[in-house]
Amino acid sequence: MIKESNLVAEDAVFREVVPAGDYFMKVVKAGQTFRILDLEGNQAADTLFYKADDPSERYSAVDTVREQGNVYLTTGTNLMSNECNVMLEIVADTCGRHDTLGGACATESNTVRYALDKKCMHACRDSWMLAVAENEEFGMTKRDITHNINFFMNVPITKDGGLTFEDGLSAPGKYVEMKAQMDTIVLISNCPQLNNPCNAYNPTPIEVLVWD
Ligand SMILES: [Zn+2]
Repeated sequence: MIKESNLVAEDAVFREVVPAGDYFMKVVKAGQTFRILDLEGNQAADTLFYKADDPSERYSAVDTVREQGNVYLTTGTNLMSNECNVMLEIVADTCGRHDTLGGACATESNTVRYALDKKCMHACRDSWMLAVAENEEFGMTKRDITHNINFFMNVPITKDGGLTFEDGLSAPGKYVEMKAQMDTIVLISNCPQLNNPCNAYNPTPIEVLVWD
């Protein structure tokens, strides 16, 4: 569901542009609202969430889909943890649909899906691995990297239940905004994917904004 936000960028307490292929890893506090802004359109922001003081509690696609009875994420979706607690609520969304079924790109899946010579291409899983290695204070390892949300990515389900990767529905300036219900580690890989149309074969920057 499309819903615009009343928050204005000038009031944000934090702003950071994340280039394509880079990661973002910071804590958003309970009560804060944060926005992922698709600066140039059709970008995919592959995102994981963890409870800040216990990362073993983390975003669960399964619990989120079951609790809301719908596979697409948009305004009103409660993003649930593996312990069935609400981590964040999507409170505004000008894109209208986000995926949590398609998973993230990895060098292995690039090889299987596209070609052997894609093995050395940069992938979201690499960015997450780099993030947990460079941010030891969170006490996470590669075992903490699980199923994710692909913000701005369009993965419609066919009548037969098949998954298809389609052109994104997003456009320059579209955004999704979430209010944190607990102190949450936000880990985003701004997807470097060049092989599927999720980002129009052209990875571009995103911006993260936070309001108190
Ligand atoms: Zn990716």
